[in-house]
Amino acid sequence: MRSRQSSLKLSDYSAKAMLGNRNSFALLLHRITRRIRQSLELEEILASTVAEVRSFLGTDRVKIYRFHGDCSGEVVAEAIRDQRLPSLLHHNFPAGDIPREARELFLSVRQRSIVNVSTQQIGISPFKPGSMMDIRFRKVDPCHVEYLTAMGVKSSLVVPILAEERLWGLLVSHHATPRQLGERELHLVQLVADQLEIAIAQSNLLSQTRLRAHQEQTINQIATLLHAAPQIPLQTVLEQTVIALQANGGRLYLHSHFSDHRSGQFPPQLFTTGPQPQIPASWLQDLDTPPNRNSTNPPSLLIPPTPSSSFGEAHEPPSSSFGEAHEPPSPSPHLEQHPHWQTWLEMEEPAPVSSNLWAIADLYRAVMPSDLAIAFLTVQIRGLLIVRLYYQQQFLGYLSLFRGEIDFERIWAGRIDRNDPRQLRPRRSFETWRELKQGQSHPWSTADQELVRALADHFAMAIHQHLLYQQVCTLNSTLEQDIQQRKQAEQKISALNAELEQRVLQRTAELQQANSELSRQIADRERALTKLQQTQATLVRLGHQLELILNSVAEGIYGLDTQGIITFANPAAAKLLGYEVEHLIGQWMHQFFHHAKPDGTPYLAAESPIYLTMHNGTTHHCSEDRFQRADGTSFPVEYVSSPIREADQIVGAVVLFKDITARQQVEQMKDEFVSIVSHELRTPLTSIRSTLGLLASGWLNSYPEKSQRMLEIAFSNTNRLVRLISDILDIERIKFGKMPMQKQTCNAADLMLQSIDAMRAMAEKAGIQLSVAPISVTLWADPDRIIQTFTNLLNNAIKFSPSGSVVSLTAELHQAEPDYVLFRIKDQGVGIPADQLEAIFDRFQQVDASNSRSQGGTGLGLTICRGIVQQHQGQIWVESKLGEGSTFCFTLPLVTPDHHDSTL
Ligand code: ADP
Repeated sequence: MRSRQSSLKLSDYSAKAMLGNRNSFALLLHRITRRIRQSLELEEILASTVAEVRSFLGTDRVKIYRFHGDCSGEVVAEAIRDQRLPSLLHHNFPAGDIPREARELFLSVRQRSIVNVSTQQIGISPFKPGSMMDIRFRKVDPCHVEYLTAMGVKSSLVVPILAEERLWGLLVSHHATPRQLGERELHLVQLVADQLEIAIAQSNLLSQTRLRAHQEQTINQIATLLHAAPQIPLQTVLEQTVIALQANGGRLYLHSHFSDHRSGQFPPQLFTTGPQPQIPASWLQDLDTPPNRNSTNPPSLLIPPTPSSSFGEAHEPPSSSFGEAHEPPSPSPHLEQHPHWQTWLEMEEPAPVSSNLWAIADLYRAVMPSDLAIAFLTVQIRGLLIVRLYYQQQFLGYLSLFRGEIDFERIWAGRIDRNDPRQLRPRRSFETWRELKQGQSHPWSTADQELVRALADHFAMAIHQHLLYQQVCTLNSTLEQDIQQRKQAEQKISALNAELEQRVLQRTAELQQANSELSRQIADRERALTKLQQTQATLVRLGHQLELILNSVAEGIYGLDTQGIITFANPAAAKLLGYEVEHLIGQWMHQFFHHAKPDGTPYLAAESPIYLTMHNGTTHHCSEDRFQRADGTSFPVEYVSSPIREADQIVGAVVLFKDITARQQVEQMKDEFVSIVSHELRTPLTSIRSTLGLLASGWLNSYPEKSQRMLEIAFSNTNRLVRLISDILDIERIKFGKMPMQKQTCNAADLMLQSIDAMRAMAEKAGIQLSVAPISVTLWADPDRIIQTFTNLLNNAIKFSPSGSVVSLTAELHQAEPDYVLFRIKDQGVGIPADQLEAIFDRFQQVDASNSRSQGGTGLGLTICRGIVQQHQGQIWVESKLGEGSTFCFTLPLVTPDHHDSTL
């Protein structure tokens, strides 16, 4: 609008005041306007503009001076005629060259000025839209004059150039000689300045458009990389970002994050390019004590506790993550993990473009902790741009970009030393002075910050998507792993099942085999048990039998152990020794029995045959040793001692013994019997022999009477011998049962009478009266043997009774079980001493042998009687008083029904 107004004003002016140069003026404007419209490059426009304006004004120099932000300025376009003035192109002028009041007037009223050094006049013309050009002249400031003079200028014209309501620059004309410039020239320059303002606006717009295009291209390029592949080349993206931002380094820190509950946590990752700061040593020391995470850090910045809860501990990722990451040497944590880093960021003012972005242009001016600043500055990092990466409130990490120091070179048109008081005076020299500023910071422009913010959004989105992708990959991997493990487990289970089945089959077979074996063993055992039971029964039976045998045998049997202690004894042994069985058990035999030799001399223990049996296993048979009874008496024994062996070891001895007292007596009696028989036989035999000898010698032939007498004696002796032998034979036959009783029923009276009859002659001869009182009862007897008994007893009674006495035979019936008859043969003879009443029943026992023998007695009659009575289950005894007579009694049982049956 301003341009159009200016054009209108220009045409009005042309009509009124510039009739002569109308064509050239219009042409100039046309050319400039066309140039501006043709070109979008401001530098080119400025260059052509100064050339056209200088040509139009005909002055020595036209330049365009552009203000910097610090109010200093630089000549950005210049046109000089014929080197009449020195070139100031790209020369910088200090801010003080143009006083602040002047700059304010340039901006506020667009004040234009025309200075004529020679007249010391300055024409000032504030711009008033819609009004005529109004130039008011006054005396110029001497300093200004001196300034221009020092520059070699005698005439100047200055028109301010504004852009976007700010003082952009000045369009200046200089002339080395005095030259009058008026409203016309001022007006024209104003019109040109207006056009320049349009061009500048267009250029700014173009720059912005280009910048945006470039930024969008950068964003697209980086976004393409970020979103192209699942595997984000973060290192490459970081490097591209660093280049796009004209940084010399950068780093991308990815916070640790969880993948899933099984894979655990992805460790923090760091990608770097360019110089990198080392984490300050003091910070590492601070890690020894856990940081207070609840102090100034927002919750989102808190470092999530890791399973190992070790700060900064690096874990290998469960799967490939973002390509090659530069892991710091373990176990140093990354800078961004440290609480100091986060604390510092909270203190630092975020950039206006975002509360999560910090643009630190110059670390020397940052509020950063000094040790951190040193860490950056040490590696020539001067500026920082940090953006905290978030996606949907999820903190992902930090993107940091570094800028180093840069050098600035400026060409100054003279230098002002404010310490030099001469500088208070107008400058006298514009000698070119080249200023080189080294180690300058390179600030982050708003465009830079916006670009980074936009890129950060893409970073965050891509990283977040990648995290999701990574989690899915991890889940897939875990799932595949699970499936694989499950398959393997199933295979293992199948194999185990097969093995188990095989084992079960094998075990079943083994069990069946074991079972059959067990059954067989059980059957064997049952058989063995049955056999054992049978054996036990046999043993019990045998034991019982043995016990019965032991109990029933008449011989004493006892057992000894090797010490001579009695281990068992049978009742016969106890009885023979006069003890109870239990008294014998456990006693030392030798001492208890007082085992002695036949003559009564006690054995020493070691000499005892029984001891020898126990110690050398020999069997000993002794027939005349003596044992002692409980009552102290001793008796002769015959014994056999035999060893008891178990497994070829002598464990004791068994002794079988019997009391041989009776036998010894029998033997003694036999000896006596033989002696008596010999004696009894020898006497008559000797007599007979003598008689026969005399007869044989013929000597007796002369003595026939003597011879007769001797023959009678011999005959008598022969009868005696016959009786003796007959009696002896009877006794022996009775004794040994060789005289069978021909028992039968017989009448007692008959037997009594027959016997009396048989003895009647003898009685008569001796003058004895026989008396008989028979009873008629039936006996079960051998009548001949009963008669023999009667006759024997009657014979004795007659023999030992004086002549004229009576011998009676009586019988009494006794009622008993069984009934019996008591016979009595009573005489009135010599009687029998009391102590002989029993003895006379023994063989060859006679009260008065010579008397008896003279009576023809043998001493065997009563013995035979006793034998016969006993054979009939009867008893025989004698009652006698010496000198008064004797009564021999015997009983015989009556016949019983049984006896009758036996005869049938
Ligand atoms: P003997 O042939 O000697 O008679 P016995 O055995 O018959 O033998 O009798 C034995 C002894 O008993 C007789 O020698 C006698 O001393 C005595 N004796 C037997 N009977 C009588 C009797 N009636 N009176 C007295 N003494 C008798």
